[in-house]
Amino acid sequence: MIRIGPAGIPLSCKGRTNKDGIIYVKKILDLNAMEIQLIRGIQTMDDEEADFIRKFAEENDIELHVHAPYYTNLAGDDEEIELSKNKILYSGRLANRLGAKILVIHPGFYGERSKEETMERIIENAKDIVSRFKEEKIKVKLGIETMGKQKVFGSLDEVIEVCKKVKGTVPAIDLGHIHARCNGCLKTREDFEKIFEKLKPLKLKHYLIHITGVLYENGNEYYHIPIKKGDMPLEPLIDIILDNKYNVTLISESPLLEHDAMYIRLQIERAIQKRTGVENPDYRDLSLL
Ligand SMILES: [Zn+2]
Repeated sequence: MIRIGPAGIPLSCKGRTNKDGIIYVKKILDLNAMEIQLIRGIQTMDDEEADFIRKFAEENDIELHVHAPYYTNLAGDDEEIELSKNKILYSGRLANRLGAKILVIHPGFYGERSKEETMERIIENAKDIVSRFKEEKIKVKLGIETMGKQKVFGSLDEVIEVCKKVKGTVPAIDLGHIHARCNGCLKTREDFEKIFEKLKPLKLKHYLIHITGVLYENGNEYYHIPIKKGDMPLEPLIDIILDNKYNVTLISESPLLEHDAMYIRLQIERAIQKRTGVENPDYRDLSLL
């Protein structure tokens, strides 16, 4: 199954609530996923809106994910960790009410600590969060995002290590970040294959993947740019997904948000058409392959 959606309320959607956004994702864009962003002012949602979104998503087969506030640090000092945990717990409760699958978090910073010590702290605190989720019957997986800057914890290897050690966590595979961090290493099919190869020990049945173009220098992300303006190609990734019939959710984090989500969709449908000869294939239907 392929799912595609925007990271947040579509830009061309006049209404600026998440409720407006999900209706637009279905009715105008005909996409089947959305990652709700608890950032940039919209950090709260009342129960009424959350319940509407949950029901609408269920009835229209839209998969939901939630992104916790950007600034969290599970490797900082005690006060910072406590604050971060509170943000993540709050987001987890909301994600659960929404029926979301994964709550994406930014794990933290090395600061003055060694990479090993940072890893230990993040593992310990992620374990604590997952156990608090369990206590509160929050059935949302904690998504540890791969991060795009050298001073930030979250290389692909580090994220995989956390996910191996902490049950209830999964990687949130941000390809723009991986690409920036390795200074533009995602170019060929082999480059993308290496990612799935590394993820294999986690035995994932589903991959949450963030896609955007990205501007970077010396292994550090500057900012997101439209997919077509970036230098990370989509074709090799799409080929791997189609060849393996991977169960993926592709979230567009591009500044063109839903326009690039539709661009991803178009590229996938073209690839299916090329393989099968079917005139107007649907990105959701891989039975043709
Ligand atoms: Zn993120």
